[in-house]
Amino acid sequence: MIAVDGAHELQFLVIMRPASADAQVEAVLDRLLAAGAQGRVAPGRESCVIGAIGDRSLLKQITLDGLPGVERILPVSKPYKLVSRETSPEPTVIQVRGRRVGGSHFGLIAGPCTVESREQTLVTARAVHEAGASMLRGGAFKPRTSPYSFRGLGGEALAILDEAREETGLPVVTELLDPRYVEQVAEVADVIQIGARNMSNFLLLTEVGRCDRPVLLKRGPSSSVEELLMAAEYILKEGNPRVILCERGIRTFEASTRFTLDIGAVPVLKELTHLPVIVDPSHAAGRRELVPALARAAVAAGADGIIVEVHPRPEEALCDAPQLIRCAEFRAFADEIAGLAALMGRTMG
Ligand code: PEP
Ligand code: MN
Repeated sequence: MIAVDGAHELQFLVIMRPASADAQVEAVLDRLLAAGAQGRVAPGRESCVIGAIGDRSLLKQITLDGLPGVERILPVSKPYKLVSRETSPEPTVIQVRGRRVGGSHFGLIAGPCTVESREQTLVTARAVHEAGASMLRGGAFKPRTSPYSFRGLGGEALAILDEAREETGLPVVTELLDPRYVEQVAEVADVIQIGARNMSNFLLLTEVGRCDRPVLLKRGPSSSVEELLMAAEYILKEGNPRVILCERGIRTFEASTRFTLDIGAVPVLKELTHLPVIVDPSHAAGRRELVPALARAAVAAGADGIIVEVHPRPEEALCDAPQLIRCAEFRAFADEIAGLAALMGRTMG
């Protein structure tokens, strides 16, 4: 027989109504058995609870809701454990160089999509710092759809980010693409970003799980919320508990935005996990005119922060030009976000 993942795990509880008949309990057990699962009856004083044990994917398909005597179904064993709110009900607050994301702290992460030059990065870092950003973002190693596009300045960009942090004091968020560069990136990064394209790169996740740096994990454009949580589980399992999740838009049939911002994923994630959840309105929108509205939606939906792309002269940018907010316009943007975050009971991280 082929071994199935979690085949002997408790998947959910069937709560029976008070005084349900033995025949009703039997009917539930029969249905579980027919699905290749087992039911374990735990009798109570007034009613009983049936634990459903078996393969998760098989059990997912059976419906017990309508059966006589069934009061409700309670999922108890999620495939992810360490990231689950069931395991740790209190929200995780990630601290980086005195900045905080999570709980009552709202993180405003801003900066260039890509480090293109020293001047472009320092000008942007100063602008976002003066406007009240909590961290500086900037790509040194860029995942690009075309191998002919600009793929980042690599080590040179890391040195520029280092200088920008020295000057502004802002913690640096930058992407790691390849496990071979983990030490080089971790030397400069205060937070290591795992980009959307790498969310399911399990070797990379394992690598950052062993690293002493918080991780900003972006949701893959074709990944479900549960897959995002499983990816985070890889990192926590290796011993790194400091993970920030990021919704950045998913691929749908809709073509009027670059990706479809799954705003519903924010409250869903907040319900399922104790990890902070932030939103990237820039990559979701794909157009700078839409970024403020999506950012406001993120705050209102209960996000713990946003990550936004900013550039002094977007028309000259080498990557993601249409979605970059102009430095000159960033302060008004940041003020509006800070005001909304305050309304939501958050303080800027
Ligand atoms: C980025 O943040 O620069 C980036 C490449 O984003 P994503 O991985 O979400 O596409
Ligand atoms: Mn970008």
